[in-house]
Amino acid sequence: MTINTPPHALSSHDVASLDDTLAGLDLAGRLACVAGLGGRVVFTTSLGIEDQVITAAIGTHRLPVDVSTLETGRLFPETVNLISETEERYDIKIKRFYPEQDDIDAYAAKFGLNGFYDSVEARHACCHVRKLVPLAKALDGASFWVTGLRRGQSGNRATTPFAEFDAERNLIKINPLADWDIDTIKAHVSVENIPVNPLHGRGYPSIGCEPCTRSIKPGEPERAGRWWWENDETRECGLHVADERQASTIPSASPDN
Ligand code: SF4
Repeated sequence: MTINTPPHALSSHDVASLDDTLAGLDLAGRLACVAGLGGRVVFTTSLGIEDQVITAAIGTHRLPVDVSTLETGRLFPETVNLISETEERYDIKIKRFYPEQDDIDAYAAKFGLNGFYDSVEARHACCHVRKLVPLAKALDGASFWVTGLRRGQSGNRATTPFAEFDAERNLIKINPLADWDIDTIKAHVSVENIPVNPLHGRGYPSIGCEPCTRSIKPGEPERAGRWWWENDETRECGLHVADERQASTIPSASPDN
């Protein structure tokens, strides 16, 4: 399979074939396979533990994948520090994408700076400004979007494939860790000595923006600390369209790492 045609022109058979191929490869093989298909490959990292595993593979194997992050302006200091630490460790550049100040000002005027606690609409509007708009810039011109989605992260992600067509963004989404469980992730991080966010050790398995992430209690699902004041059905941020399709109450314009 080569990407001589734009992603939207690929058949569902092509994408299913790629999904089958990726299933038989290890992480580095999956990334190298996609990088060898001919289109621009963009990986957006939230600096979470899964994304650190992917960044380490890209850096270690010097793969031609653009690594980007959405610097929302509301990240934990630990997350911001990890960006530069990771760049130094793997001798790579992580490109930061920021929200527009005019959009932030308009949001604050309408909802208040922390208006996301008041309604799902307000929360999705904030995610739109701080995540979705920067994401669109990060993915501009990309044929493939690599993510750290795993099937074990939540019920909404239980059927995550290795490759899927993202019709809204007109690209192929690649989830090379779809079949990894959290214990495998942790073991890999330990063996490879991959730098991770210190918040993971303080009860934060999933880390997003500071005001929208809390630590979880033993036995809670991995993403229970994300937008904890909302119902399960709405707790994605719109970055991942397939999640939204399954969570039918989510409006079309809200984001997540
Ligand atoms: S996670 Fe919270 S602070 Fe971050 S963009 Fe979404 S609503 Fe805004």
